[in-house]
Amino acid sequence: MIDTLRLTAGEVNDLLTRREATSDEIFAAYRAAIDERDGELHCFLHVCDDAPGEGIPIAFKDVVSTKGIPTTAGSRILEGFAPVYDATVAARCAARGLRTLGKTNMDEFAMGSSTENSAFGPSRNPWDPSRVPGGSSGGSAAAVAAGLAPWALGSDTGGSIKQPAALCGVVGLRPTYGTVSRYGIVAFASSLDQIGPVTKTVADCAFLYSVIAGRDDCDSTTVELPEPVAIPEAEDLKGLRIGVPTELNEADGIEPGVSEQVARALDLARELGAEVGECRLPRSVEFGLACYYLIAPSEASSNLARYDGVRYGLRSGNGDVRSMYDRTRHDGFGDEPKRRIMLGTYALSAGYYEAFYGQAQKVRTVIRDEHDAAFEQFDILVSPTSPTVAFELGARTANPLAMYAADLLTIPSNMAGLPGLSIPCGLSEGLPVGLQLIGRQFSENLLFRAGHALERALEFDYVPERLR
Ligand code: GLN
Repeated sequence: MIDTLRLTAGEVNDLLTRREATSDEIFAAYRAAIDERDGELHCFLHVCDDAPGEGIPIAFKDVVSTKGIPTTAGSRILEGFAPVYDATVAARCAARGLRTLGKTNMDEFAMGSSTENSAFGPSRNPWDPSRVPGGSSGGSAAAVAAGLAPWALGSDTGGSIKQPAALCGVVGLRPTYGTVSRYGIVAFASSLDQIGPVTKTVADCAFLYSVIAGRDDCDSTTVELPEPVAIPEAEDLKGLRIGVPTELNEADGIEPGVSEQVARALDLARELGAEVGECRLPRSVEFGLACYYLIAPSEASSNLARYDGVRYGLRSGNGDVRSMYDRTRHDGFGDEPKRRIMLGTYALSAGYYEAFYGQAQKVRTVIRDEHDAAFEQFDILVSPTSPTVAFELGARTANPLAMYAADLLTIPSNMAGLPGLSIPCGLSEGLPVGLQLIGRQFSENLLFRAGHALERALEFDYVPERLR
């Protein structure tokens, strides 16, 4: 029997190349793990009984269109919808023999930080099922942490890969804006959305990124990578200049236990040869969240206009076409998408556009410039990924602003279009703490190198204690 809990995707690959297990046996082992543990964790919205291919299994966040396989984005409005084509990222995985295990749970339309906004019920954190796995890619992160998939794809608009990876003790990469195709991805906020890997190790992350990244003729926002992805082998950080932005490390609401683990990681980084210094991102942190909550809802209100009962999924009402639109959107969208559509429609409306959306775009430029200035002195910037460890289910559902604060530390670099890697760096109160490494545009290889060297030194055990 293959024990999936500890297996990395790289190790699955070794089993296959050494012919110690067949692809079918491996697929069956993950299916068995899902049968055993997903009743409690609810990482999956759809599980595949079989899938073509001779390679490693993979799970996709339910924003990734998969031909003939239900794709709901966690929303009732897409219930019953099965796409007629594969997203480019799914097609690229299939072309490498990766086999689709299923579709993972998420906050509705990726709006949230806990998966509690899923119309189909929340996922739970494998480290402590009374707590959230983070979100919106919580199903993907929890599935990888619980050994229900060797790796997965998620999507990240304001932090939805990095934050759940941190809360579940796994690795997550939000790639540089424009490096991974969004063709066939359910759109949330198009100037921010990126697809990226969720894995157990940095080497797996680099490999999966190499599979999905690069120019796609079906998505004109993509570019070719300036250099091929290098699978990291570095064991030291000699010559690396690490900036520690004060505001990202001393923000209100960062738990002391989180700061302690980040400080320990920085000590290790110095031992590995890195130079560590302070830097500042004052306006990025002060205005990042507010700026995001104008830009993301504005773009969402436009992207979500297509769900009208005509083209996809749910159709409600039996009167005239106008009341069919109203009924479908009334019944199909949950509270959070409705809140965002209202916010966004308001911010884009004539008379308010300049004051809100236009102003937010200007602030966004300020945020980008501030990051550029920091990168004149440093190669990577480091902070906690999330201010807190995983919180209890229900703790923030009544207060949207408390939920929005979960992404305080991930949003600024996202607004600047920069890549960010989250790696687990220790435990606080028995729960994982994530370390966020931010790089210049297209510096994924450097993030992988630094992340890999730190991962070795940190010796974090990614198997949740209660499952060991
Ligand atoms: N939590 C943020 C939001 O609700 C980010 C979500 C995301 O990255 N998809 O918008």
